[in-house]
Amino acid sequence: MKYEDSIEKIKGIGGKTAALFHKLNVYTVSDLLHYYPRTYDLYEEPETLAEAGEKEQGTIAAVIAEPFRLVRAGRMEIVTGKLADANGEILVAKWFHMPYLCSTFKKGMHVVVRGKLGGGVKSRTMEQPELFLEQNYRAQAGYMHPIYGLTAGLGNKTISKAISNVLEEMSAFPETLPAEVVERYHLASYETVIRKIHFPESMDAFGQARSRLVFEEFYRFILGVRQMKEKISRLKNHFALVEHLEIQQLIERLPFQLTSAQLRAWREIEQDMTGDGVMNRMVQGDVGSGKTIVAILAMYLAGLCQYQSVMMAPTAVLARQHYETITELFAAYEIPLRVVLLTGTLSVKEKREVQRQIAAHEADVIIGTHALIQEKVTYADLALVITDEQHRFGVNQRDTLSQKGLMPHVLVMSATPIPRSLAIILYGDLDISIIDEKPAKRLPIKNCAVETSYRPKAYRFIRQQVEEGHQAYVICPMVEESEMMEGENVEDYSEKLRQVFPSSIQVGILHGKMKTAEKEAIMDAFGRGQIHVLVSTTVVEVGIDVPNATVILIEDAQRFGLAQLHQLRGRVGRGKWQSYCILMNTSGSKASKKRLDILNQSNDGFFIASEDLKLRGPGEFFGVRQSGELEFLLADVYADAAILKQASDAVEWQLSRKTFPE
Ligand code: ADP
Ligand code: MG
Repeated sequence: MKYEDSIEKIKGIGGKTAALFHKLNVYTVSDLLHYYPRTYDLYEEPETLAEAGEKEQGTIAAVIAEPFRLVRAGRMEIVTGKLADANGEILVAKWFHMPYLCSTFKKGMHVVVRGKLGGGVKSRTMEQPELFLEQNYRAQAGYMHPIYGLTAGLGNKTISKAISNVLEEMSAFPETLPAEVVERYHLASYETVIRKIHFPESMDAFGQARSRLVFEEFYRFILGVRQMKEKISRLKNHFALVEHLEIQQLIERLPFQLTSAQLRAWREIEQDMTGDGVMNRMVQGDVGSGKTIVAILAMYLAGLCQYQSVMMAPTAVLARQHYETITELFAAYEIPLRVVLLTGTLSVKEKREVQRQIAAHEADVIIGTHALIQEKVTYADLALVITDEQHRFGVNQRDTLSQKGLMPHVLVMSATPIPRSLAIILYGDLDISIIDEKPAKRLPIKNCAVETSYRPKAYRFIRQQVEEGHQAYVICPMVEESEMMEGENVEDYSEKLRQVFPSSIQVGILHGKMKTAEKEAIMDAFGRGQIHVLVSTTVVEVGIDVPNATVILIEDAQRFGLAQLHQLRGRVGRGKWQSYCILMNTSGSKASKKRLDILNQSNDGFFIASEDLKLRGPGEFFGVRQSGELEFLLADVYADAAILKQASDAVEWQLSRKTFPE
């Protein structure tokens, strides 16, 4: 068996199972080996209730104190168990739709339950915990059992079995890094680490395997970046782009004064576009620093010189927002450039028409989502490609795009807080402009981390803000079980809010399962102020700009990474009014509160990301990557900064060897 073989060659994987694996983007043996566990089950030592204390999750050893009771309520079947721990403290556990537990588990049996701890200090409860006979639980202890991301019909056992079959059947695991790099950096062999990442015998083994795989991810990434840089640096600017006075005039007529950081970024872009080489620049600036207007100026310059420009956004909602910002701005200042929007909401016919306009150069400024813009679109005179929120996309995408048109100028906009030293490595092929200044009239957002008892007060506060003419976001509780429930969850929550608020307050909803057209319609209504309170999942995280929104209430805030909370909070504080961010800590735990309080200390995205890192334990690193970063499978730019530097070193060394053979 070889890496590139189809997974159907693996024992036990037939056509049907293979089709399920395809849903996870696993087609080859290599894909499967790269399908790393999302996390591991550690079967940690069970505790007593007193030991578990204030923890959110508990693993409790106990004796079944009374026979399990089965109650039927309508269609519901509820099993209740009274469990006594070693100190005689009682835990009441409930299971739904599992009546068979009553016949398996009897009074006096020693069990281990694992789940979310609820109830007060005196009466602890668990709903739907995992339930084991203590001896079975202990038999598993000490190993790390891989847990994979699943899809309907494909269980954890099937995936882990498939992987262990590959590990057994493959006779050789060819090295995936150059042998001399493996030797020089004392890396463990690929075979060793690929076994260990799936079935680590200990935390140490996991750590070693992970480090080498992280090294490899960085190595490949940096090599890609270096090759890209080579290619780009040879490119000549063959577009007839020259400075235009109209841009300065527009800057002077804008309703606000550009910050000096914005102006500096713009000058750098202008110099690049009118210079000898092709521009490859990243504009890095925290949420709300005003990157969009800088991008618009670049598109205006291209337009003034009779060229087309493209701006890509990661979501249709954001693309639409940019489209509106730009059309309104051009209309207000009588700028005769023709703007088109290309997203999934268009009918086939409309799409074809827009594509025709692009090909015939009847459109100057093209806004859309990445997929659509990269799809079979032919450009007439494309000189500039802008990607917004670039951190979600890799070098490869950038490459495909650059191949459109005649190697156009490339501008990427990113809010990812990365210190300069790392940015130079990760974005080595790009020049960087940093917008390190917020527009002057902004008031800093007021934050508070609160307990659930504060909820009525929070609702009253939102109501007050709405009555003063503002708008609010409510980020819905996170749904653990499945993405399928996301929609229902948002619906339920918004229903609840409609009960709380007077009918004059319009509550709208937004979630990932909605059709693009629906999402756009909702965002549109919110943007126009027709919806006052938007109940949403984290889909609003990226880029959305509604300056009139002054409150964001984030439910289950403790379950988010701080960097992500920072992005979410960035949805408010975009206008001239005082804005507020309410972080609802539903865990009641003090540790969570402490962590959330970090957001109070700073508005600097990088500071927040690095503080978050300090608070996260090593166990939290399995697979947990904060959203909004580069697309690595395992690597974490912050946590693995040292490995990143080493990999960068390795790439330099390797490239220098190639040029000057020893
Ligand atoms: P981001 O950098 O997060 O993409 P945006 O470009 O969306 O931020 O800008 C956020 C808001 O700030 C927008 O409503 C924009 O019109 C406004 N804005 C941009 N620059 C300035 C400025 N210099 N002064 C005041 N408001 C500005
Ligand atoms: Mg933006």
